[in-house]
Amino acid sequence: MRIIGLAVVMLALLIPMQPALAQNGKITLVIHGGAGTILKKNMTAEAEAAYREALTLALNTGFAVLEKNGSSLDAVEATLRVMEDSPLFNAGKGAVFTHDGRNELDASIMNGATKSAGAVGGVTIIRNPISAARAVMEKSPHVMMTGRGAELFATSAGLEIVDPSYFWTERRWKALQDILVREKETSAAWEIAKSEDETRFGTVGAVALDSQGNLAAATSTGGMTNKRFGRVGDSPIIGAGTWADNDSCAVSATGDGEYFIRLAVARDIAALVEYKGMTVEKASAEVIHGKLTALGGEGGVIVLDRKGNFAMVFNSEGMYRGSITAAGAAKVEIYK
Ligand code: ASP
Repeated sequence: MRIIGLAVVMLALLIPMQPALAQNGKITLVIHGGAGTILKKNMTAEAEAAYREALTLALNTGFAVLEKNGSSLDAVEATLRVMEDSPLFNAGKGAVFTHDGRNELDASIMNGATKSAGAVGGVTIIRNPISAARAVMEKSPHVMMTGRGAELFATSAGLEIVDPSYFWTERRWKALQDILVREKETSAAWEIAKSEDETRFGTVGAVALDSQGNLAAATSTGGMTNKRFGRVGDSPIIGAGTWADNDSCAVSATGDGEYFIRLAVARDIAALVEYKGMTVEKASAEVIHGKLTALGGEGGVIVLDRKGNFAMVFNSEGMYRGSITAAGAAKVEIYK
């Protein structure tokens, strides 16, 4: 009897020592760090190495959550926080500047299991806008909050608040000055960053599948250099820049926001998967190479379904992107 009792105690002690194994071998995380005219000839070896390192860190951070049977929601948030904190990307620190020389940040997140969603637009003092988007989703009855109201809400939710100067980086400041000069020279009323402007890209996004089979998506951005009058792009618009739904797939987009809004790109891809039974690859190609290209928009998407099939499709010269699955190590790519 005592031996059996001892064995039971030992077993109970041993169980928590087992590493938490994913029940589902399909856990997957796919990320992007912005699309645009990203050409190898314009990239120094140091810059490329820095991007590869940052993308790998983001992938490993999010995947560690999935490996511990964490939720896809926690994984995409953790991933984007790393990317928002990196000055390399146009999100959080490193965001592009508005015409007035401010950093106005947009972000959104969606839970595929419940179809709940949260977003913030035009925020200037929240260190990690993606966490504010999640707070809107989980701690309020609303889906989207903007500007000062969103900032007051984030403050009350206990999120980290920073001085607006935290987001300043020399590279993005210079990009604004260059555009302002061009605007003067051409007397263009609405000069925004051209697709070949190297500093334009860097919006960040993630889609994940967890061990419970649930999908989530998240997107965060500073928008477009020289944007004005409270311009908000597609990134915080559910159905345009972000979508996640266990009935179809999870999507995060990057590119010319106005086009992604007009085409409801993220939801359009999900609808093709849901109603037409298309693969994520085919649905993404249909919308990006078909509709988006025809309308004159540039950019790309990352898309993931519940079986772990994923696609990274873009019509620009490049897209910072990466993936990691239970089967292999983090894989990062930049060019076409
Ligand atoms: N889609 C973002 C926006 O329009 C920008 C980008 O992804 O480069 O705000």
